[in-house]
Amino acid sequence: MLADPYDAILLDLDGVLYRWPDAIPGAAATVAALREAGKRLAFVTNNSSRTPAQVVERLESVGVEATPAEVVTSAIATASILTERDVRSAFVVGEEGLLDALAGVGIRAVSPSDPLPDAVVVGFDRKADYAKLKDAAVLVERGVALFASNADPSFPVPGGESWPGAGALLAAIETTTGVRAEVFGKPEPALFQRALVSSGGEHPLVVGDRLDTDISGAGRLGWDSVLVLTGAARRADVDEVSWKPTFIVDDVGGLLTEPAHEGGGILPEEVPNHTGGFARW
Ligand SMILES: [Mg+2]
Repeated sequence: MLADPYDAILLDLDGVLYRWPDAIPGAAATVAALREAGKRLAFVTNNSSRTPAQVVERLESVGVEATPAEVVTSAIATASILTERDVRSAFVVGEEGLLDALAGVGIRAVSPSDPLPDAVVVGFDRKADYAKLKDAAVLVERGVALFASNADPSFPVPGGESWPGAGALLAAIETTTGVRAEVFGKPEPALFQRALVSSGGEHPLVVGDRLDTDISGAGRLGWDSVLVLTGAARRADVDEVSWKPTFIVDDVGGLLTEPAHEGGGILPEEVPNHTGGFARW
């Protein structure tokens, strides 16, 4: 099957395993079959607002079995990188997932009246208001380093609308200060690298529905990727981007199919991929 050569399968969530609040047909059975085949799994999400336990609950509600240790959010990656850099305190624009992850590694969340923190950390925050964005910007103007769990411009909601995402909030601070944040979420490499380490595997396959985050992020690391057509990207969109997926499948169930077989959902023609070679099919 397509997944055979890889020991770690890094799965995006929305658009791959569910289109919230609906399950994607076959996703739960596919995850179970990958486990059965001995694959190490990581559930990888740019959304920093939920804790791993909350992500597991969400997965279970669509029938997908997972453990918190298998969930790698951009908040978890951010916390572990910042603690390695000796960040001990931060002003946070973010929700429970980010606050929990930072607290979990001993990074203290401060208020604007406290002495200058080591970092300003920005993620998705549905309670962010002018005062919070202003306080973050003022700290950055005073020289505090600026980091972001992710920079997704928008947040997809049921019905197809887009609401301002973490990147939109970050843009307010960047625009005010002229300082660019260091970002850890997809398509930056940090989140994927953290997911591979926590999976314990060595040969990763990234599975995602977005060309601009999942597929380009994998490509920049030189890792193979699978584009599923159950989320953001359409097959024709692949022609428009420079980072191509290694494989294209109709849905996540395509991981269990033989890529060379007709009907396996793989592109029927050669497609230049990230290595400058051609998609394997
Ligand atoms: Mg997605």
